[in-house]
Amino acid sequence: MSKINITFPDGAIKEYEQGITTRKLAESISTSLAKKAVAGKFNGELIDYDQVLNSDGSIEIITKDSEDGLIVLWNTAAQILANALSDLYPEMKFGQGQATEHGFYFDTDNQAGQVGEADFEKITAKMNKIIKQNLKIEKVSYSKDEALALVANDPYQKELVNDLASANSGQVFAHKQGEFLDFSNNVVLPSTGAVKVFKILSVAGAYWKGASSNPMLQRVYGTAFYKQKDLDVELVRREEAHERDHRVIGNKLDLFFVDPKVGAGLPYWMPNGATIRRTIERYIIDKEVGDGYEHVYTPVLANLDLYKQSGHWDHYREDMFPPMDMGDGEMLELRPMNCPSHIQVYNHHKRSYRDLPLRIAELGMMHRYEKSGALTGLSRVREMTLNDGHTFVAPDQIEEEFKKILQLMVEVYNDFDVTDYRFRLSYRDPKNTEKYFDDNEMWEKSQKMLKAAMDDLNLEYFEAEGEAAFYGPKLDVQTKTALGGEETLSTIQLDFLLPQRFDLKYVGADGQEHRPVMIHRGIISTMERFTAYLTEMYKGAFPTWLAPKQIEIIPVKNDLHFDYAAKLKNKLSAHHIRVSIDDRNEKMGYKIRQAQVNKVPYTLVVGDSETANNTVTVRQYGQEDTKEMSQADFIAMFSKDIESYSRQ
Ligand code: ATP
Ligand code: ZN
Repeated sequence: MSKINITFPDGAIKEYEQGITTRKLAESISTSLAKKAVAGKFNGELIDYDQVLNSDGSIEIITKDSEDGLIVLWNTAAQILANALSDLYPEMKFGQGQATEHGFYFDTDNQAGQVGEADFEKITAKMNKIIKQNLKIEKVSYSKDEALALVANDPYQKELVNDLASANSGQVFAHKQGEFLDFSNNVVLPSTGAVKVFKILSVAGAYWKGASSNPMLQRVYGTAFYKQKDLDVELVRREEAHERDHRVIGNKLDLFFVDPKVGAGLPYWMPNGATIRRTIERYIIDKEVGDGYEHVYTPVLANLDLYKQSGHWDHYREDMFPPMDMGDGEMLELRPMNCPSHIQVYNHHKRSYRDLPLRIAELGMMHRYEKSGALTGLSRVREMTLNDGHTFVAPDQIEEEFKKILQLMVEVYNDFDVTDYRFRLSYRDPKNTEKYFDDNEMWEKSQKMLKAAMDDLNLEYFEAEGEAAFYGPKLDVQTKTALGGEETLSTIQLDFLLPQRFDLKYVGADGQEHRPVMIHRGIISTMERFTAYLTEMYKGAFPTWLAPKQIEIIPVKNDLHFDYAAKLKNKLSAHHIRVSIDDRNEKMGYKIRQAQVNKVPYTLVVGDSETANNTVTVRQYGQEDTKEMSQADFIAMFSKDIESYSRQ
């Protein structure tokens, strides 16, 4: 038998017989390693523990305590789940199943009756049985025809077998676990026994292969760990994430709703949510005006020709709503971006170098036809209002303006206590350049310029190809959502294209006409996404300046103390404080608890002593102790609380 050379992570190279496996390598190193090892990574690719190695290459031994170790566990748990389901529901058809970020899933289709939460117990019992049996999981190879014959009754599996066969010149692999066959490229454990602790979590609809034109399948979710303690930690994390989810809080605090019957992705802002939004809008407009921006209002509709000229119609059409044919030859389009509108504002007057940088801003409403599967509460919607701004600069002003925008962004983030973010430089995809404006020199130049500015500011960033806008590269600010996903909040984008398309000009100091450069920027993103983000970040306990209701007054006894409470309310309202009286016929303790549940920043209890002395007993959200103080002292304390935001 011939020999092969295996390179280990420390650089050591050793010779082995061809056909060796990761298991044998681990055993030859140490028994303690072999105990922990569950799979291999050969030349960077995850492989089964018992997969034979036939060529030179590098190996990494994957142990239980690594991220890859969990992926292998979750792939296996998904397979055990499908095995159990196939036993319980012989008619069931199977889509795909695998590890996710925090667990696993399998897609299923059972015409006779879909799986529900009530079935979790028996599914768990069946899975436990399979785990106890410690079934060997073997990788078997089939020809395409053999495989197709085995899955003849399952249209999804047939499609998968065909996909796998064409990707692997007619050969198909499956993992065999007892009687169950899993046709996939997933890497799994050598046997079922190591899946010690798991939990079936939920079911949800999922389109076959993720495409909304395909049938809807039932996705069964679960998670698994090597140790009970890790599962416990994960369950707490999930519960916290659920409680932080802006859709859950939005419902509890009555901030907004989305009703697919009225329109998916078209949120309704209820008074509480609208108050938060209005406060953010006033804040950001004042802040920008103070920073030299000129705010405008422009229409959400425009003649389609505008978006043909801008290039949106060519490059962005699939995200746009279809045009409205007005019947007289005019086609109107709902704008997907505000840039062409602000270009009209620029072009409305003759501009000179003295006007630059010209900063046009708007809380601009726009519409994007996002895929239905991507819509999420307020964070991904189809109608949104962007804190948009376009700065028109002379080429030699780009860098300074870019830094100025970054500075504004940092200040705004400080005011909202946003600290957990990272910068992403988004470039075009070099393998897919036809998606972008065709000017290599422009791309090279502007990508370099962005990078140089970031380096100059000593800011850390990562680079992402394929994330640029069609007209230019951008700096995106990436934040984490409660559910662990990452999304873009702020963005700054360089654009040499639109000024050219719209023939923008300014008269320079030399009396000649020159072409300006555009910088697109959104500081706090859309009102929708930013409100979703803040809701999750604050867990619904908005700081006083943003809270929909800032003060709840609770009379100890309605009949005795209501008049005093009403006078107090009038006085506070005159200070533009958002205040109400809870005069329901409920016990005081209940009302105090309700104010906490609704996360109201201040609760003022007023009874005999307060009425007699013109005082209030103050309890701040999240605190146990209370303090009696004069009305004047309370108002001073309140004003101090919101002072930094009312200084504009
Ligand atoms: P994404 O990659 O999130 O789809 P994008 O790159 O298409 O965003 P831009 O055109 O740069 O987005 O839009 C500006 C900002 O508007 C984004 O950075 C994001 O914060 C926000 N935004 C974009 N799409 C949506 C949406 N569907 N719902 C809510 N906010 C959005
Ligand atoms: Zn723009």
